[in-house]
Amino acid sequence: MAENKYDVVVAGSGVGGICTAALLSRYGYKVLMAEKRDRLGGRYSTIEMEGFKVPTGGMALPSRGGVIAEIFKECGADYNIREMGAPSLWIDGGWHQLPEKGQLKALLTILDAIGANKAKIVGELAKGTATEKILGAFKKGKTGTVDPSNKMSIRDWLKQFTDDEKVFQVFHSVTSSFTAVNDFEYPVSSFFAYLSSAQGGLHHVGIAPNGNVELCNSLADTMTARGSDVWTNSPVEKILIDNGKVKGAVVSREGKPVEVECGLLVSDLGPRATVEIAGRDKFDADYLKQVDALMTAPIVHTLVASDKPLADITGMAMIAGAKRIVTGIAMTNTCPELAPPGQHLMVCWSTPGSSLHHLDKEEEARLTLEDVKTIFPDFDQHGRILWMEVRDIDHEYVAYRSWMGYDMPPETAIPNLFHVGDAVKPFGWEGTVACAQGAKLIVNELRKRFKPAA
Ligand SMILES: Cc1cc2nc3c(=O)[nH]c(=O)nc-3n(C[C@H](O)[C@H](O)[C@H](O)COP(=O)(O)OP(=O)(O)OC[C@H]3O[C@@H](n4cnc5c(N)ncnc54)[C@H](O)[C@@H]3O)c2cc1C
Repeated sequence: MAENKYDVVVAGSGVGGICTAALLSRYGYKVLMAEKRDRLGGRYSTIEMEGFKVPTGGMALPSRGGVIAEIFKECGADYNIREMGAPSLWIDGGWHQLPEKGQLKALLTILDAIGANKAKIVGELAKGTATEKILGAFKKGKTGTVDPSNKMSIRDWLKQFTDDEKVFQVFHSVTSSFTAVNDFEYPVSSFFAYLSSAQGGLHHVGIAPNGNVELCNSLADTMTARGSDVWTNSPVEKILIDNGKVKGAVVSREGKPVEVECGLLVSDLGPRATVEIAGRDKFDADYLKQVDALMTAPIVHTLVASDKPLADITGMAMIAGAKRIVTGIAMTNTCPELAPPGQHLMVCWSTPGSSLHHLDKEEEARLTLEDVKTIFPDFDQHGRILWMEVRDIDHEYVAYRSWMGYDMPPETAIPNLFHVGDAVKPFGWEGTVACAQGAKLIVNELRKRFKPAA
């Protein structure tokens, strides 16, 4: 095949893009993966900061198999993950260890111990889940549509069974840790569909001891070994569409525009950025309406460095009753190599006041900092903020480019242009795993529809 001529161009090397590119290379396609940054992985990557290896986004990854590990194996790449300990809960100033299994029951027991009315909600929760199933949320979810008549929020649903503030706090933390959206905004039907889905939550999670970027590099190496190309520092500036079909792309390489030809293009940039570089005039009004209506999940991403561990936890911590923080992970309690000797790293994620409106960034940062000081009493003396980023609804690196359950299809009206990533997640899947599952499904489809050039 001629230089700058590829079977497939994959724009962007986030987890969705890199899994797609590596799988297609594995199955004989000549692929160009073009990434605008100097490192691979997008929100599944690592930045070196003052000797710390800091995650750019997702870092709690399945540690015992699952679709990401399968893709690595299929492509022949190393998947180096170290499992974390069991999760814990912070509430009312105290830490509570949760078991590996039966966490809902354990949460209710903790609520009971701290004075919430457990007896009333235990049975009702189980009944509610069953009712949702009867309503067909799960079935409809699998075909990609949320039952539009059931938009009740998680909080309103819970209010049918309890008015206990602590119960709300715990469920806000649990549900928001998965969805990255507030419990009073996210529909309960979507949450149950998620719980009943093939993914079924993250039970065993771990951290990449050398950072996710090592995983990405390992997958990219399998591509180059198979004759595909990986270009970093190379933004895709334009998707070239002619007669209703993609014919190539203009990629900026070493500052110079390079025109590449391709049979198909898979974009990991999210539908919004994709239609901009393809030209909005190439899409019909209905499609653009869907793109413009995508609801993103903003997040405050906070990395806390310290000269002593700030909490004695080894798994994911659900933080209940704080102003903004809902999750904390003491990364170096599992992987000390992510920090310089004698230093420690804690990552905290906050769900902002609303996922529907622009944020007051200063206020969100202030509330998160207050939480850090409350949750970790040693912070003032032993800790410092290494990095805090308030990612508003239009930030490139939001938690998700679409709320779970509201994603767009990966196909577009242009027959050889597809999306991967977290705006086109398969229903019921979340995060990095959803992007990998989406990549696997689209690669299966592409293999049926398009053959690699000989
Ligand atoms: C703070 C935070 C914490 C999270 N925690 C978790 C977690 O613990 N577990 C989990 O499973 N998920 C988590 N997530 C979600 C997860 O990180 C994302 O869903 C996932 O990584 C998104 O991947 P993606 O394929 O959509 O692409 P992205 O990560 O968005 O990557 C897109 C890539 O495209 C590149 N790009 C952009 N424009 C161009 C262009 N014009 N040309 C070429 N390249 C371009 C970007 O540089 C980027 O590398 C978290 C997210 C955040 C933000």
